[in-house]
Amino acid sequence: MQFQGLADRLASIRDRIERAAARGGHGQTVMIVGVTKTHGPDAVRSAWAAGLRDVGENRVQEALAKMDQVSEPVRWHLIGHLQRNKVRSAGRFNLIHSVDSDRLAQSLNEEGARQGRALEVLIQVNTSGEATKGGYSLDNLERSLGSLREMAGLSVRGVMTMAPYDAPEGMLRETFSRARRARAMLAGAGLPSAELSMGMSGDFETAVEEGATIVRIGTILFGEREL
Ligand SMILES: *Cc1c(COP(=O)(O)O)cnc(C)c1O
Repeated sequence: MQFQGLADRLASIRDRIERAAARGGHGQTVMIVGVTKTHGPDAVRSAWAAGLRDVGENRVQEALAKMDQVSEPVRWHLIGHLQRNKVRSAGRFNLIHSVDSDRLAQSLNEEGARQGRALEVLIQVNTSGEATKGGYSLDNLERSLGSLREMAGLSVRGVMTMAPYDAPEGMLRETFSRARRARAMLAGAGLPSAELSMGMSGDFETAVEEGATIVRIGTILFGEREL
């Protein structure tokens, strides 16, 4: 019974989020995405039973396999890199957090048009400056605002960022507040972008203090990853 106690852990995380939101003073409400990657379909079922309605996966193949095994009507989030040869699966996700290039945005836009709807996405921004992390720099985002706005097959809901692992507090805050600036850039360009997806098990309280509206939590809910 690996996922026993999930409801209690979730309650404690919600409590910590509420206190962090009060400290931060941004007045936002915060959604928890339970990150079930590497865990089996039971993690998703347990998440649903504990009251979570949103789950996140970082690999398309793994997510699709799990979707086929789970009947609970959770909302599926894609939080990892989407290869352009997999955009045909994009419609299976309720929100794609990881639009990290103009080329991917254009492919998704075409897929949305093909489906006759706008796919819900977040723009991933690299606000830590780490070369190993994907996403738009703020400069590149600035240059792409015009074309993103023209994409009728995409509905841009906000931005996503990842902070460096185990970074000192000051660096975390800097990374998260730059993501807030990226969201303001989208809003300024007329893209109605309310969401700020940032914060994981080790840094979600700082992220919420800096205005996160979506936190992506794996390890402290489901335990160490399998595989
Ligand atoms: C795995 C992952 C998470 C969750 O990480 P934890 O530290 O286990 O909470 C969040 N976001 C992304 C993009 C991930 O790949």
